[in-house]
Amino acid sequence: MTDVIQAETARIIPCPTCQKAMEWTSKNIYRPFCSERCKLIDFGEWADERHVISGDNRDISSTSAEEEFD
Ligand SMILES: [Zn+2]
Repeated sequence: MTDVIQAETARIIPCPTCQKAMEWTSKNIYRPFCSERCKLIDFGEWADERHVISGDNRDISSTSAEEEFD
């Protein structure tokens, strides 16, 4: 019989935000992050990047008359 539940073995993975080693277990509700803080940071960066892209498009149209690239 091979009824060994391998899921009970904690896997060590790096946190996507701070690269800190953390255990991937069912007890860690913030996985794949090491903490709620890292989870929020990751979400914040994603939202901020999206905001920058939106603002960039607006900036290009408003500065089309200026040619200071040379
Ligand atoms: Zn972290």
